[in-house]
Amino acid sequence: MSSKSMTVIPFIAAHGYPHTQAWIAALQLALPDEHIVAFDELTEEARAACQVAIVANPDPADLKQLPQLVWIHSVWAGVERLVADLGNTDLKIVRLVDPQLASTMAEAVLAWTLYLHREIPAYARQQAQKLWQARDYVRPEERTISLLGLGALGEAAANRLLQSGFKVCGWSRKPKTIANIECFTGEHGLPAMLAKTDILVCLLPLTTDTKGLINAQMLAGLPTGASLINFARGAIVNAADLHVVLDNGHLAHAVLDVFETEPLPVADWQWQHPQVSVLPHCAAPTDRTTASRIVAENIRRYRDTGELPQTVDVARGY
Ligand code: NAP
Repeated sequence: MSSKSMTVIPFIAAHGYPHTQAWIAALQLALPDEHIVAFDELTEEARAACQVAIVANPDPADLKQLPQLVWIHSVWAGVERLVADLGNTDLKIVRLVDPQLASTMAEAVLAWTLYLHREIPAYARQQAQKLWQARDYVRPEERTISLLGLGALGEAAANRLLQSGFKVCGWSRKPKTIANIECFTGEHGLPAMLAKTDILVCLLPLTTDTKGLINAQMLAGLPTGASLINFARGAIVNAADLHVVLDNGHLAHAVLDVFETEPLPVADWQWQHPQVSVLPHCAAPTDRTTASRIVAENIRRYRDTGELPQTVDVARGY
C-alpha cells in the first residue's frame, strides 16, 4: 500500500459540533506524522485525495465530497446513525473500541447496579416519609444481573459485576463462553435468562433487530420487582410499555441514560416518574485522549500495511 504520501486526514463532525478543535488537537498529538484538519479547511486537492477520515456524527453530504474515501473511523462506539445515513455504500465504517470506554461503562454499570442492589430508591422514599426502617440485607450472590449484549462494553461490565460478587448472565446473538457468566443466545435463549433476572442491563447496539426489543412481552418475562438499566440507546426500549410496567408495579425501577429524543423533552413522563432515574447520556463518555490513541494506532497500521481494523457489518447494523 503506497498511501504514505497522503498525510491529510479530515475530522468531520456534525455542523456546529463544539468540540472539533479539541478533537483535532488530541488527534494531532497522537498522529504527529499526519495532518489533521477540520473538513471545512480541506483544500480541493486534499478533498480529492483523502482515503480515510475521522468522524463524529458527520453530515453524509460532506463524506460524498471525498471521492477517494475508503474508510471512516468514528470516535463513538455506537454507529447506528452512520449505518442509517450511509445506507448501501462501499465505504467501510470503523467504530471506537477502547478499553478505557469499556472500563468507564463497567464502572457505570456497577455504580447503578449497587444503587438498585442497596435499595437506594426505597431508602429515599422512606426518608421522604421520615420512616426509620432498615430493610432486609440481600447478599450480591443472591442477585442475578443480566446483560443484554456481551460485546466490548457488555463483557467488561459483566466481569466487573462478577468481581463484586453478583450472579451474572449475558445474552448475545452468537453463542459465547465466558468464565463464570451464564451465557444465553438468540431469541430462544432470552426467556430463560429473563426469568432469573433481578436487574436487566441493556448494552446492545441499536439495529433493526433490537429497535423496540424491550417491549411489553419482554418486560413481562422479568420477575415482579425486577429493575432495568438502559445504557445503550433509547429506541431499544418501548417507552410506553416501560411506563405501564412501572405504574403497575411489575418493575421496581428503571435507570435510563438514553432516550429516543435527546435531550429528553421537558414534558416527557420519565423526568417526573418516582421509579425512574434520568441520566443525560453520561454513562460512558468517550475519552478524547485514549480514543485518539486508538484511532492513531488503527490509522498507522493502515498506512504501514494497508490493513483496516475490524469494520462494521452494515447489513447486521453493528
Ligand atoms: P459491540 O461490541 O458491538 O457488542 C454488541 C453486543 O450485542 C454483542 O454481544 C452482540 O452479539 C449483541 N447483539 C447485537 N445484536 C443482537 C441481537 N439481535 N440479539 C442478541 N444480541 C445482540 O458493542 P459495544 O461496544 O459493547 O457497545 C454497545 C452499545 O453501547 C453501542 O452500540 C452504543 O449504542 C452504546 N453505548 C452507550 C454509551 C453511553 O454513554 N450510554 C457509551 C458508549 C456506547 P454478538 O457478540 O453475538 O455479536
